[in-house]
Amino acid sequence: MAEHWFCEQNTPGYSVQWKVVQKLHQETTPFQELMFVELEEWGRTLILDGAVQYTEKDEFIYHEMIAHVPLMSHPRPEKVLIIGGGDGGTLREVLKHPKVASVDMVEIDQRVVETSKVFLPGVASGFDDPRTRLIIDDGINYVHETKQKYDVVLVDSSDPVGPAVQLYSRPFYQDVYRALADDGMLVVQSESPLFYGQLFASIVGNLKDIFPITRVYLATVPTYVSGPWSFTAASKTHDPAHIADDTAIIDGLKYYNKQIHQAAFALPQFILERLG
Ligand code: SAM
Repeated sequence: MAEHWFCEQNTPGYSVQWKVVQKLHQETTPFQELMFVELEEWGRTLILDGAVQYTEKDEFIYHEMIAHVPLMSHPRPEKVLIIGGGDGGTLREVLKHPKVASVDMVEIDQRVVETSKVFLPGVASGFDDPRTRLIIDDGINYVHETKQKYDVVLVDSSDPVGPAVQLYSRPFYQDVYRALADDGMLVVQSESPLFYGQLFASIVGNLKDIFPITRVYLATVPTYVSGPWSFTAASKTHDPAHIADDTAIIDGLKYYNKQIHQAAFALPQFILERLG
């Protein structure tokens, strides 16, 4: 049988190939091209518009870091909003916090949620939790119109193509600021500082103009374009680098711990220089 490789083109000069064991599903949704495959070594994998979003092997790194850094640095993360994150990985991590009382999750594409429940059942369990309210809507509209006030907002978005473009815009961040409580905190995935330096700097710059505290932190997620991956935490009062309750422990994590929380905020010189 002929070997089949999936090629992900990250930039005009850089692409990655993944060996496909089996294609599980493919469809065109109203928003994007959606595909699930089984990859050799990487396991079950979600691909949107040709970009790998999720692999079974290393998804824990991204999901633990986008969720636990803000939830451990906010003293009372009771009311949480997730924008995007249709595979359910971020939701699964958020629900591990005993202080979290409710999670609203706004995903634009119902088919990502429905198919993730079928093809990634291990992660999609959070959709049945009584604290979860799934809202199928554009995250831009939702934050623009909501009257809710959240303690923590997480933007687990795809890259800035298709429906996600406006999730990287200043008006969206201003709406998130308004939808946060007086001591609220936002975390966005802010792309690769090495491969997409301009985009990374513009995300951080926009957030700096709006929030009094803006902190970048890093993790290496092999699935995403090579090298460090960035997250940006923007906060009204609490320092995202400071763990609020030093005695709090969340069992069963594979990447996040208190040392990682602190170390993740140490930035290499080229990133500091890019941020000015
Ligand atoms: N961590 C992943 C990454 O960086 O590759 C992102 C994963 S998650 C699957 C991204 C989700 O954001 C997708 O399910 C997509 O449908 C959703 N999304 C894109 N634009 C959106 C919008 N405007 N409002 C809400 N969800 C959106």
